[in-house]
Amino acid sequence: MRPLCVLCVLCGLSSLPFALEREAFNIAKYDLQITLEPGQQRLGARGKITLRNDSAQPQKIVALQISSSLNWRSIRVDGKPVQFVSQPYISDIDHTGALSEAIVTLPVEIRPKDSVELEIGYEGVITLDTTRLTRFGVPEDVAKHSSWDQISPTFTAVRGAGYVAWYPITTESADFSEGNSLFEVADRWKKREAGSEFKARVSMDREGGEIPPLLICTSASESLIEQTGRSQRTNAECFWDKFGTATPTFAMARYDNWFKSPLNLLSLPGHEAGAETYSAAFEPASKFVSGWFGQPTAPIAIADLADPHSPPFESGTLLMASMAAEDSKLAGINLVHELVHSALPSPRPWVYEGLAHFAEAMYRQQQGGREAALDLLGLHRAAFLDSEKEVSAALQKNVGQKSTGQKSVGQPLIGTFDETYYRSKAAYVWWMLRDMIGDDALKQAIGKYRAADDNDKDPKYVEQLVESAAKRDLGWFFDDWVYQDRGLPDFRVQSVHPWKTEKEVQMITVTLENLGNAGAEVPFKITFEGGEITKRIEVRAKATATTRVELPGTATQIVVNDGSVPESDLTNNEFKISPP
Ligand SMILES: [Zn+2]
Repeated sequence: MRPLCVLCVLCGLSSLPFALEREAFNIAKYDLQITLEPGQQRLGARGKITLRNDSAQPQKIVALQISSSLNWRSIRVDGKPVQFVSQPYISDIDHTGALSEAIVTLPVEIRPKDSVELEIGYEGVITLDTTRLTRFGVPEDVAKHSSWDQISPTFTAVRGAGYVAWYPITTESADFSEGNSLFEVADRWKKREAGSEFKARVSMDREGGEIPPLLICTSASESLIEQTGRSQRTNAECFWDKFGTATPTFAMARYDNWFKSPLNLLSLPGHEAGAETYSAAFEPASKFVSGWFGQPTAPIAIADLADPHSPPFESGTLLMASMAAEDSKLAGINLVHELVHSALPSPRPWVYEGLAHFAEAMYRQQQGGREAALDLLGLHRAAFLDSEKEVSAALQKNVGQKSTGQKSVGQPLIGTFDETYYRSKAAYVWWMLRDMIGDDALKQAIGKYRAADDNDKDPKYVEQLVESAAKRDLGWFFDDWVYQDRGLPDFRVQSVHPWKTEKEVQMITVTLENLGNAGAEVPFKITFEGGEITKRIEVRAKATATTRVELPGTATQIVVNDGSVPESDLTNNEFKISPP
């Protein structure tokens, strides 16, 4: 391969008589055998993938990519080797900052929507690599905590696309330094692959003797051990009939396994106290989740990370989080999150992840009150604030040309694969719905939600469940928050008029204005001599709403929004009422 590879780099692909459409093919099906050699930090792969032409033109060339620390060994179609050239392709989608790309010439042209099966083989090493972060200016000692993927004799953990391309992908180059380019490419890949089937058997051979390490891939997979004479083979099966938002990830370590259905709790030696904290938090978390989302039955797993400073990572129902600390609050919300997944599967990321993050906030409220819950939600606000401000600005620009502006801006929640939206914004949307319709109605709607039988194919499925439970028209809310991305609301007190009735009862007339393009029902707090009172009012996009409130004393101040509605500008929410 070497000479070809060098040639390719030297002349570039510009000499080839075609424009390479890297995202023309999707990988609709994977069936891989992965062999790990932890001593050498090696991975070997062979298997089959099915490529589907999702472009509008017939295609004869496909660009298959794996991590740059892996090398292509063979590619065959119908049992015959096919011609391919291998080249490095710079892209921050992999932790090494580059991919090994095989430019494959297929024996025949594949028509749009048609598929072709390839037999593939590749191998190489996966070591801790911070290149894509350090190249971008992140200090090495910071980068290594978040870039923790590696195969090693003591602790192996490797995340898939977006971290390490340990299975083939087909993407355009992603760049960390170019705004959102990396996330755009990674999100687009996830969306393209959401319906794909993935199967991989990950194995590790060793001489018998001591207790073998545990190998996991999905929350449902158990380490299976085959003994042949003196040698042992440890296997784990990774399987998704549809990816959804999952990122295939495997881990191998001397885990202790604490099991209580549906939870596999895998902790590392030395983290016993942290694991204890999790097991103590399990029953109360389980009870809480059952009350809102039904009985958790599907398997979930929480697996320890070797580096206590590593941020957690989630793929489907597998959460990787360090158990080094004994943090019962964190253990509680992590358990609640995974248990919601166990109880309520959904093909829609904003439902699946949004509900799990919303449940974390509700659990926090149960333990520490509404303010504690809103503080937790508040940590999500920054994640989508900037992109929503851009959406607002774009909408502002388009006001004059609304009739022509058919192209939707931003990320409508209903179909997004952008994590900041389907996790953070979605958590707020569920919280606002709960504030609007109350616990009982929302529980009833959630209780009727069924992911099976493709119920949630109709975009209005969730709206209908919520509306029929609440007996209230919420079409405007779903339009502004779920079906479209209209940015965020921006509330202010437009006017305040204190007055007295004939019977000397103190009244106040309050007019609130929403300067944003998304409407919401927002709480506002009136402070008066001797106390305060909170009311709620619906203020549609670019509109005002007026209400009258009876008060036991003279009003001194009004504050709109307690933080439960994500807003673009929080600096204009206070209004001091000067004495008459
Ligand atoms: Zn989740």
